[in-house]
Amino acid sequence: MPLSAAASAREILTGLHEIMAGRGSAQSKLDKVVDLIADAMESEVCSIYLLRDNKLELYATHGLRKEAVHVTRLGMGEGLVGTIAAEGRILNLAEAADHPAFAYRPETGEESFHSFAGVPIVRLESPIGVLAVQHVEPRRYEEVEIEALQTVAMVLSEMIAAARLVDGARRGRIRSSGPLRLSGLKLVSGMAKGEAVFHQPRVIVEHTVADDVEAERDRVYSAFRKMREQIDAMTKDAEFGTAGEHQEILETYKMFAYDEGWSRRINEAIDSGLTAEAAIERVQQRTRARMQDIDDPLLKDRMHDLEDLSNRLLRIVSGRFGTAAQTGLARDTVLIARNLGPAELLEYDRRRLKAVVLEEGSLTAHMTIVARAMGVPVVGRIPDIRHSVEESEQILVDGDNGSVIIRPSRALLSGFEHRLATRQKKRAEFEAVRNLPAVTLDGVPVSVMVNAGLAEDAANLDPSGADGIGLFRTEFQFLVSATLPGRERQQRLYTKVLAAAGDKPVIFRTVDIGGDKALPYLTDIRDEAENPSMGWRALRLSLDRSTLMKAQARALIEACGGKTLRVMFPMISEPWEFDEARALFEEQVAWARKGHRKLPSRIDFGAMLEVPALAEVLDQLLPKIDFLSIGTNDLTQFLFAADRGDPRLAERYDWLSPAILRFLRRVSTQAREAGVPVRVCGEMGGRPLEAMALIGIGIEQFSITPAAVGPLKAMVRSLDSGKIRIRMEQLLDRPPANMRKTLGEWARRHKVATD
Ligand code: PEP
Ligand code: MG
Repeated sequence: MPLSAAASAREILTGLHEIMAGRGSAQSKLDKVVDLIADAMESEVCSIYLLRDNKLELYATHGLRKEAVHVTRLGMGEGLVGTIAAEGRILNLAEAADHPAFAYRPETGEESFHSFAGVPIVRLESPIGVLAVQHVEPRRYEEVEIEALQTVAMVLSEMIAAARLVDGARRGRIRSSGPLRLSGLKLVSGMAKGEAVFHQPRVIVEHTVADDVEAERDRVYSAFRKMREQIDAMTKDAEFGTAGEHQEILETYKMFAYDEGWSRRINEAIDSGLTAEAAIERVQQRTRARMQDIDDPLLKDRMHDLEDLSNRLLRIVSGRFGTAAQTGLARDTVLIARNLGPAELLEYDRRRLKAVVLEEGSLTAHMTIVARAMGVPVVGRIPDIRHSVEESEQILVDGDNGSVIIRPSRALLSGFEHRLATRQKKRAEFEAVRNLPAVTLDGVPVSVMVNAGLAEDAANLDPSGADGIGLFRTEFQFLVSATLPGRERQQRLYTKVLAAAGDKPVIFRTVDIGGDKALPYLTDIRDEAENPSMGWRALRLSLDRSTLMKAQARALIEACGGKTLRVMFPMISEPWEFDEARALFEEQVAWARKGHRKLPSRIDFGAMLEVPALAEVLDQLLPKIDFLSIGTNDLTQFLFAADRGDPRLAERYDWLSPAILRFLRRVSTQAREAGVPVRVCGEMGGRPLEAMALIGIGIEQFSITPAAVGPLKAMVRSLDSGKIRIRMEQLLDRPPANMRKTLGEWARRHKVATD
């Protein structure tokens, strides 16, 4: 098989092209194709298996017994051929029978052939068949031979689709047309229905064989140039930082965009006779196949970047630009994507975007944080979603239990609507209490503020009935930007937020970058250690990168000219960190004064308690601060040594455990004794039963997710704070076996609205 040059592959493609253009039935064409490939590759056997009725059927062969054609059929995952199709992988075996999946089929007469190489025939990322070669002599195939097989498989997929030889080949997928229920990971709760819209409309590679290799080379060359220009333009958009920092921006994308190896491989595929589109797709298929055996999540992320870039290149070369956001949404939409960036999500019309379903996604991904803030339900980790649904088909999303129903039957739809109505009724009840005061039955006022981070959040402040923004996560702006937002961009956002909040207070938290909130343009964060949430993040990073912190301080000081600036620092572990952060702000006040800028009328400095160690030195910290905010999301993960983003641990440690409640009681008592206001701003405070327990240990200020304002107020208005305080004292002195159950029963008995 001396196929060592692109020229030989090109010969095969020319032959294939002639066969495809010639007369005859599809079957006779496939018979000619296997002869052609066997001949060109000096291979004793060449066979094509196609997917029919979910079985891989031997459709044409050169070298195996002809009686086996249309007789030998293998299930997905069965034998070598079934493994290739099911896993979308390439097999290259010197001794086929040694492979654990090998399934001997006597009718084929294949026992005399030792070596085996097979590649999937893929249409729109779904397998529709397998192309295999076999040899008597036991040997592994060379890389160029495998690549030639892949090139041929690519062209075959076009021919097969055109001839409609396999089920669903036009669409490139095999699926039923009935209702389908799929389960994934619950990322953002909520229920919604709508029509499926693909975030990235697919580019279907229609023509695979090039008429003019030079012309294809030119096309890919100019597409690369355009893509590089786009990436460079994004880089130039950076407004912030010293000269050195500019170079870090968008480093990964740039690295791939200028990667010589990648463009060389695409050019080689064009040399073998493929069109520019087919060449890009073929190289991407090869990368995907190679990545299958790699477990490293970091490397997988990088491959995701490359996949994005490859799709971008494909869209440029085929002239099909834009995501569904740019085309606009016509109806209630359930957005389908492999994965999505936070900025991409924000481009969608929020009135039409009802839910998102992803093949990937994780609880702590930036896009999940943003979707939660937008109130858009998200279900992730449904690996086959893009191949299971067609554009415009109806899809029901249940973010509360992480499932979707595609093409629902009438019965399924009405069941879903019934649950949706119950949910909405409940919400309407909460709506009614949203604007009522949060005062307990015994007259204790409770402060209910909201957590926010997007410019749009501020606009929702009033209808949410909140007392202000208790935690403005400033890093959201950084997460949704392609480049580091400079001082002016930050200031514009803060001004907008303050204006929208009117008289209500806004507490800005300085950036909590790092940990799970890594930024692509700050590479030294990206390369962080194995345990990022305990790593170089939040204030630790801000103090080291004081240019960044100074710019933020100036933006906040200027935005709050003439008003009170309320600012707090995340992840403080020791009091000196607070001192340094405060000093940095005060230096910037001096700078503003010198520049005759309008200064804030006053500045309140707060500390976040998220690191348990800080609780041991509160006596030193409390005299220095104006307020304390307890970030229970981080605090509890550190108390229990349980990663907050790991779904396997999500149910394991309870926020209502005596350990957490005793810890918080101690902190709240100490703060109260020192006369320092204390607020809980983690997710815990947004859950009515948890909030009831918190009131029981003396917490009377909350900052919660906006959707929880109604439920929290309903709870507060039905609670006697004196009674819960007495009960919590008893329960924390002698904790019951199940605190949640005990508190739930207490709430029911005392008619506290905690459901
Ligand atoms: C927390 O840790 O509880 C908190 C409010 O901060 P974040 O969720 O942004 O880490
Ligand atoms: Mg935190």
